[in-house]
Amino acid sequence: MVKAVVGANWGDEGKGKITDMLAKEADIIIRFQGGANAGHTIVNDYGKFALHTLPSGVFYSHTTSVIGNGVALNIPMLIQEIETLTGRGVPMPRILVSDRAQIVMPYHILFDQYEEERLGKKSFGSTKSGIAPFYSDKYAKTGFQVSELFDEELLKEKAEKTVEMKNVLLEHLYHKPSIDGKELLATLHSYREMIAPYVCDVSSYLDRALKEKKTILLEGQLGTLKDPDHGIYPMVTSSSTLAAYGAIGAGLPPYEIKEIVTVCKAYSSAVGAGAFVSEIFGEEAEELRRRGGDGGEYGATTGRPRRMGWFDCVASKYGCRLQGTTDVAFTVLDVLGYLDEIPVCVAYEIDGEEITDFPVTAKLEKAKPVLRTLPGWKCDIRGIREYEKLPENCRNYVEFIEKQIGYPITMVSNGPGRDDIIYRKK
Ligand code: GDP
Repeated sequence: MVKAVVGANWGDEGKGKITDMLAKEADIIIRFQGGANAGHTIVNDYGKFALHTLPSGVFYSHTTSVIGNGVALNIPMLIQEIETLTGRGVPMPRILVSDRAQIVMPYHILFDQYEEERLGKKSFGSTKSGIAPFYSDKYAKTGFQVSELFDEELLKEKAEKTVEMKNVLLEHLYHKPSIDGKELLATLHSYREMIAPYVCDVSSYLDRALKEKKTILLEGQLGTLKDPDHGIYPMVTSSSTLAAYGAIGAGLPPYEIKEIVTVCKAYSSAVGAGAFVSEIFGEEAEELRRRGGDGGEYGATTGRPRRMGWFDCVASKYGCRLQGTTDVAFTVLDVLGYLDEIPVCVAYEIDGEEITDFPVTAKLEKAKPVLRTLPGWKCDIRGIREYEKLPENCRNYVEFIEKQIGYPITMVSNGPGRDDIIYRKK
């Protein structure tokens, strides 16, 4: 059986913690899209870790961690991540990398930086991890697949062609140093050596695993609003963030995905540019940012302060719908305990009209939040394990949001640790 853990919003909803928690009962955990541009933060018995490429199941010895074909694979970063874990006492995880995954090349990272520089004020706020140039090449059919590393003739030919094409842009568009074919080939050889122990025909491995009734978790990166088709285009990421894409990015039949756990944070945060209707500013935002997450709302990859806002029912309802949510995991609720009153965005006002269906980007830019204020609970709810023991105003907040978004909140997370979770019946 396959379960997906995905985000309803802009990412940073706490998917890492939920995956890490669900991984206890899983056999295989798979990353199916995205790359090292975002990070999951996980707190467990080994300490606090930021994962960028590895799935959140790597801390258990009973699980196999898979990097699916849909991932933007940065090989040196993956190796470094493995070394960081083992260096801090985590047992060497079982890792498989799809032979069909494509490789983030050093020039992808350069092009990402150069393009952001060129765009100046109009830049996307990219993490400069090479993700957009990587996926552009993948779909332009000029990328390097892991399997190709083991075909020397093809590798030589492709390296030459690539250098030719990239150097035109480097010279004439960006006015930057050109790349050298021999150096590129040497890099590819070093990647081959690094990745060889992990390479696997993943879809066939998963086919066997399904026949053996294994439990498989798909771990999404970012959230619905960053999906290139259904998100806030063009301020989106370059691979699909939806559970449905899990079937493609891992190599599974779509009908095997039985549960879709969509993670929603009890307030909003976003990184990068783009419309963010319920955004707050100034001291109000700074306080939420400082108290948020586990040690503040700062990017796990970049350390950048995240943009902050109140919970957005319009965006989250849409985010849950596009994921095909069976369960909502409502996270970081404990953080809101300091507020006397908690505003929630229940609708958007666009040109004098109130809507609750998330609009296309051009309309979204004009949207103003319609806020409803709920009473706070003014206490620390960490450590509570039963839903009924939460303060009444806290339960009212959860139930109000559940009604607004229209999907069942079956898990409430009230702390960063594995055990900080309250289960609710549907
Ligand atoms: P992801 O990319 O969706 O996994 O999100 P992040 O890694 O940015 O996670 C959000 C942050 O919130 C991390 O620092 C987590 O440790 C933390 N976190 C997750 N769930 C909770 C929770 O229920 N309460 C608190 N206080 N922090 C949480």
